Amino acid sequence: MNAHHSPSPRPSPLQGRGGYAVKECFLTLQGEGMQSGARAAFLRFAGCNLWSGREADRATAECRFCDTDFVGTDGEGGGKFASADALAARVEGLWGEGVTDRLVVITGGEPMLQLDEALVEALHARGFRVAVETNGTLAAVPGVDWICVSPKAGTEVVQRQGNELKLVWPQAGIDPAELEGWAFDHFLVQPMDCDQREAALEAAIALAMERPKWRLSLQTHKVVGLA
Ligand code: SF4
Repeated sequence: MNAHHSPSPRPSPLQGRGGYAVKECFLTLQGEGMQSGARAAFLRFAGCNLWSGREADRATAECRFCDTDFVGTDGEGGGKFASADALAARVEGLWGEGVTDRLVVITGGEPMLQLDEALVEALHARGFRVAVETNGTLAAVPGVDWICVSPKAGTEVVQRQGNELKLVWPQAGIDPAELEGWAFDHFLVQPMDCDQREAALEAAIALAMERPKWRLSLQTHKVVGLA
C-alpha cells in the first residue's frame, strides 16, 4: 500500500443520487492487451474526468484523442442501476450459463469515477474476475483482479502499479523510459487510432524494436469487426 491508495473523492455522474450510470454493457471478446481474445462481459461506465465527451470541448480537453462514446446511458445494455447487486446481476445475465472463467472488463469513460468496492464484491460473489481499464489518474479500488492503465500525456497518473500498462502511441509529452520504472507486469504499446494510422503503427513498431520491455498490441476487435 502506498499513499496513492488512500481514499480519494470520486466525483460520480450520479453522486448524491446513488447508483451507477452505464453507457453500455454487452458480451464480446476482449480485443486488446494481454487478455486479447478472451470472452468477456464489457461494462462501459458513462463519464470521464479528462473530457466531457462533447466534440465542442475536445480541443480544450486534457485527453483529446478519445475514440469512445461514453456520454449518457443510451447504449446497448446501458442504463442506470440503483445498486451494486442490480448491476452485477445484469452482468451475470449477459454471461449466461457457465460458472467458470467469468471475466468482466470495466471501462469507460473513466471507470474509477464510479467503480467501488461494493460492485467489485458483488461481481466476485457471482464468480467474475474483475478487470479494469483506466487512465490511472484515480487510484483503483481494492479487490480489482486485473488493472490496465493507459496513461495520457500531461496528466498526473497516481495508479503506477498493476498488470498492464497500455501506452497509446505516439503521444507527445510522454517518455516511455520514465514509464518503465512503474510496477506493471506487462508493457504494451498500441498504435493510436487516428488519421495517421500507418505512421502510428510504424512509431509503435519502432518503440517495441528499440525498447524490448514494450510489446506491440493491436486492437484486434477492430480488425475482425467486433464491437
Ligand atoms: S481518458 Fe480514456 S475515456 Fe477519457 S477521454 Fe481519454 S481516451 Fe476517452
